Amino acid sequence: MAETKQFKAESKRLLDMMINSIYTHREIFIRELISNASDAIDKLYFKSLTDDTVGMNKDDFEIRLTADKDTRILTVSDNGIGMNEEELENNLGIIANSGSFKFKNENEKNEDVDIIGQFGVGFYSAFMVAKEVEVRSKAFGADKAYAWRSSGVDGYTIEECDKEKVGTEIRLTLKEDTETENYSEFLDSYHLKELVKKYSDYIRFPIKMDVEKSRRKTDAADDDYSDNAYETYYENETLNSMVPLWRRNKNELKPEDYNNFYKDKYYDYNDPLKYIHSKIEGTVTYDSLLFIPSQPPFNFYSKDYEKGLQLYSSGVLITDKCADLLPDYFSFVRGLVDSADISLNISREMLQHDHQLKTIARSIEKTIKNELKKLLNNNREEYEKFWKAFGIQIKFGCYDNYGRDCDAVKDLLLFTSSAEKKLVTLDEYVDRMKEDQKYIYYAAGDNVNMIESLPQTELLRDKGYEILYLTDSVDEFVMKVLMRYKEKEFRSVSEGDLGIDTEEEKEETKKLAEENKDMLTLIKEALDGKIKEAKISDKLKSHPVCISSVGRISLEMEKVLNQNPQNEKVTSEKVLELNPDHKIFSVMQKLFNEDKEKFKTYASILYDQALLIEGMSIEDPVGFSNKVCALMSE
Ligand code: ADP
Repeated sequence: MAETKQFKAESKRLLDMMINSIYTHREIFIRELISNASDAIDKLYFKSLTDDTVGMNKDDFEIRLTADKDTRILTVSDNGIGMNEEELENNLGIIANSGSFKFKNENEKNEDVDIIGQFGVGFYSAFMVAKEVEVRSKAFGADKAYAWRSSGVDGYTIEECDKEKVGTEIRLTLKEDTETENYSEFLDSYHLKELVKKYSDYIRFPIKMDVEKSRRKTDAADDDYSDNAYETYYENETLNSMVPLWRRNKNELKPEDYNNFYKDKYYDYNDPLKYIHSKIEGTVTYDSLLFIPSQPPFNFYSKDYEKGLQLYSSGVLITDKCADLLPDYFSFVRGLVDSADISLNISREMLQHDHQLKTIARSIEKTIKNELKKLLNNNREEYEKFWKAFGIQIKFGCYDNYGRDCDAVKDLLLFTSSAEKKLVTLDEYVDRMKEDQKYIYYAAGDNVNMIESLPQTELLRDKGYEILYLTDSVDEFVMKVLMRYKEKEFRSVSEGDLGIDTEEEKEETKKLAEENKDMLTLIKEALDGKIKEAKISDKLKSHPVCISSVGRISLEMEKVLNQNPQNEKVTSEKVLELNPDHKIFSVMQKLFNEDKEKFKTYASILYDQALLIEGMSIEDPVGFSNKVCALMSE
């Protein structure tokens, strides 16, 4: 009997965690073992290029899976470089190389379990599914082969064994199934095939397996469809596709290749709106394949949606959703990044702080932005489709974090404009601003028609100024964080001075305000604290009144914010503006002198009307209706 050796303390703890892991994605052990096998083959292949004694061609290398249901043994074997006795001892007895695995204090154990799940910690992950692990290996250039065996924390043995060919064979005797755990599935060739596809499809050496198949026996009777008429046979299959699409030469690939890849991988029925295949060499080297879907995934606007790109390290999947690779405003982008500069065994915490990853993320962000800009400039129709699907996400990105990222995306924004009610960019708007135009005008409301009929948009349009029509609730917030575009300030049509008056007009308004001072004051009094001010308007044409606001919160924001029952109620500071050229204005002047009570009633009706036009609710609808009825029956 070989002597039983003890694991080093740290290895023992890691092993213990693996054995008792409650992690649901135990299946990643297969990825770990295959990736080790691939590394070992890489080493021997590299040697073979300069050393004839290796006696192997590239095509001779393979990784093989064998599943024996009777003995419950799953074997992963390779014909790579192998390990000698000392290497078995050093590589498997101690966790020396798993640099990613840093122990924390006892209390953080649970988090460690998550690290296992997310990124694996190499060879020991085999103990998540196996009660016994045997590694039989023959190193290149050695005469003898050795077997390393362990059933867990009690230690391991190493002794000589028979193995003719150079390479390594990892035999896992799987744990017994329990009520909740099914380990037998790792003996099922279909399941194994699926796992290989999922995690190791792009390993560059073939991963082969005899896959169980069923066929009709040649002598089966024509009418016999029972089990007896079928026999099981095995077919040697290569399970992985080996060359990742993204590593292939771009000019070898057709749009269908990308589209099919996308549909397959991301379960979309539609072709992507755009694919972006980049090969970047520089401070970090990576290949990336990015897709902009043509439609939002069904759960895109729900909490369930997780953004992220797949992250590969030289063709081996590290994580399915690396959120750090995408800024929130591009969360709709699907795809992957493959970089040899990212270590396979990197933990999630470390990934977050990884310098290389940050560099990649920045570069990805730029790539996406440039592509979208190109689309915007070269194919407006497609861009507008994109905008319809994901524009709101870009707007949220603009507004999030107090506008931290708004500079990055402001050029991608589109808004409906009063000019032909078409979508325009801010650039286009500013480009065709009138010479004397001070501000970028916008008006907010539920829909374009409603905004169009707002009294305060009429005169502006009439004078030939373009107005952006904001119909999404986030829009006005976007304007607030942007503040200006190309030096031009944004200005809501419902906010104070629009800067369209000539000096004479201004003088005129001032004079009128002076003359009607007492009347305006009485309106304010009549409305009993509801408005901050009543004033002579310079922005109305055919309507008698409108409401505007001063201060931080606009009318539209008041509406939007108060829709959320959890928010504390907010109110905007309102100004009632009166059109001095409207007939109603003289009616008010007359009443002011002749019948103060009636004047007050009229003031309150005008105020409520202004609110209604704005799409806001009025405080006392019954009172309003009664006042109108009283008027009608006069
Ligand atoms: P890592 O792969 O991060 O180094 P592992 O625990 O998976 O950590 O493996 C430890 C070491 O064991 C590897 O670095 C490698 O030297 C050796 N090893 C594992 N599997 C094989 C194999 N199939 N063939 C040759 N060497 C192997």
